[in-house]
Amino acid sequence: MKVIFLGTGTSQGIPVIGSTHPVCLSADKKDKRLRVSVMIKHNDRVYVIDCGPDFRQQMLNQNASQLDAILFTHEHADHTAGLDDIRPFFFKQGDIPVYAHKRVLKSLRKRFDYIFETENKYPGAPSVEENIITNAPFFIENFKVTPINGMHNILQVFGFRFKDFAYLTDMKTVAEKEIEKLQNLDVLVVNALREKEHLSHFNLEEALAFIDKVKPKKAYLTHISHWLGFHEEVQKKLPENVYLAYDGLTLNL
Ligand SMILES: [Zn+2]
Repeated sequence: MKVIFLGTGTSQGIPVIGSTHPVCLSADKKDKRLRVSVMIKHNDRVYVIDCGPDFRQQMLNQNASQLDAILFTHEHADHTAGLDDIRPFFFKQGDIPVYAHKRVLKSLRKRFDYIFETENKYPGAPSVEENIITNAPFFIENFKVTPINGMHNILQVFGFRFKDFAYLTDMKTVAEKEIEKLQNLDVLVVNALREKEHLSHFNLEEALAFIDKVKPKKAYLTHISHWLGFHEEVQKKLPENVYLAYDGLTLNL
């Protein structure tokens, strides 16, 4: 299994439009962060978690020519706004399977009505195959996925475990019984927005405490704001086996 970080930035990305913050002006490529998403390659299949506004650029960056499913964590725009750009995959492969909570599908149906339209569909509009997921393991073909339920302030969010890899973003609280699903991980990815506390995201301290509790072999931080600081400087402050993810980072698991 291969995991590629397509984007590691918070909702506005880094740089933020018009910002003169030093991190936004940084020349270090690792300080350029598109909106969060990962690509998972397994047995000749290609899956992505979330499909934000940078999806098109992310697919171009990876020379992607195949997309077998999209799994959605939640409906916020930084995780969903790129859905229209599945068109090249749809033209080649037909309906693209999407896996999401029924609330998320309802939200997508409202915002991308033309994608979900069945009668008098506009020619050229893409289509998806809807798969409702609940907080129970499911299979994409024969690939087992275990959802991890969390809260993004008052909004339910899914994280996902595939084998000994788990990806959790936009979490603020995770119940103990959900943490139990994260035993014996080789790699845990978790959101860490900035140092200051935030209403709906782990800050750095909360993310590190969560990692300490889960005890994966390695952990990577994502959904990063420019307020967290320069990649190179933040990395130096992190405990052993905890790393800041960056766009393009590839893990072979
Ligand atoms: Zn987000």
